[in-house]
Amino acid sequence: MSTELSGIEALMEITARPDLVFVRGEGSWLEDHTGKRYLDFVQGWAVTSLGHCPAPLVEAITAQARQLINPSPAFYNQPSIDLAKRLVSASCFDRVFFANSGAEANEGAIKLARKWGRVRRAGAYKIITFENSFHGRTLATMSASGKPGWDTLFAPQVDGFPKARLNDLASVEALIDDQTVAIMLEPVQGEAGVLPASTGFLQALRELADLHGLLLIVDEVQTGMGRTGKMFAYQHAGITPDIMTLAKGIGGGVPLAALCAREEVSVFEHGDQGGTYNGNPLMTAAGIAVFDTINAPGFLDSVNERAQQLSEGLLRLVAKWGMKGERGQGLLRALLMDRSDGAAIVEAARNRSPEGMLLNAPRADVLRFMPALNVTADEIDLMLAWLDETISQVRG
Ligand SMILES: *Cc1c(COP(=O)(O)O)cnc(C)c1O
Repeated sequence: MSTELSGIEALMEITARPDLVFVRGEGSWLEDHTGKRYLDFVQGWAVTSLGHCPAPLVEAITAQARQLINPSPAFYNQPSIDLAKRLVSASCFDRVFFANSGAEANEGAIKLARKWGRVRRAGAYKIITFENSFHGRTLATMSASGKPGWDTLFAPQVDGFPKARLNDLASVEALIDDQTVAIMLEPVQGEAGVLPASTGFLQALRELADLHGLLLIVDEVQTGMGRTGKMFAYQHAGITPDIMTLAKGIGGGVPLAALCAREEVSVFEHGDQGGTYNGNPLMTAAGIAVFDTINAPGFLDSVNERAQQLSEGLLRLVAKWGMKGERGQGLLRALLMDRSDGAAIVEAARNRSPEGMLLNAPRADVLRFMPALNVTADEIDLMLAWLDETISQVRG
């Protein structure tokens, strides 16, 4: 074992990690401690949205670090104001609260909905969420999630998250009672294997919420910030949600998240919500650099062009290997395989030489692709060629 790996037992063991240490990244490429390079189509789980160490992000963080890192959330700072203004102008929301992770932003959304329920809906508190959904790893967001097994993992759960089925309106209607305050969903279920909520379903949820006086909350932690080819995924359906959460791609790799709400829902009173690091200028300056890059003319057009290319390439693999299909929105896509050898393909891709490739299998028979939003056409072609090669190697 090399010196770089000695000492790994000082880290708490929370997942099986391969014996490699990443030391450097640039765009779609990562380099490990032996100098081996990897084509990265995971990008920190859709987090490094502009690739590794992009110049605008590095420059923004460096300049802000020299100027002001954190005056505390008890005072205003300019980058947080500037990023909030950008998010408000690009969306249907009026108010932004910054957080440090997707789970924390969702926890804030749950608190805001419960507060609104107490003030406006006589104490209604239940939030309808969905089977196989993923909202984070705090106790409340684990309870909101529909991940199999999580209902008993750290029992007792936080109460009040009945589960409906995605794209099944009757299953949502059946759960509504006088204690229901909101419906919360991912526009595309990411961890479940890239399962999009249909446009019709999202529109019907908006109508249903209006009919019963409920809030509609979209968890855009994975789908937001250009990932699906629009700034926010809810915009594909032309709906107006009441609350939206963002994380992952918004910081381009640094811990930044946001809870966005319409004015009439922004009912927090002083003392209800806060956090030591929330909205600090170092992270929000990073967020501005990411936002301005994605919002620049033509950027989302190129995301959609690359998405089209990726989709067509995956369909060629589907035809060649007799697989089931591909699905997704923008640069959040999945290959639906005919066999459950996803883990073996991910491992073989990583182990290929001289260069490796990072892929993700959210389910045994599904591969998920979350490249940098500025991935090049050549990098997509290279990934598709290497994937084809890896499938033949694994399947013999
Ligand atoms: C990743 C994810 C989260 C959790 O975000 P963290 O930053 O890991 O806490 C929540 N919701 C969705 C949809 C996600 O993909």
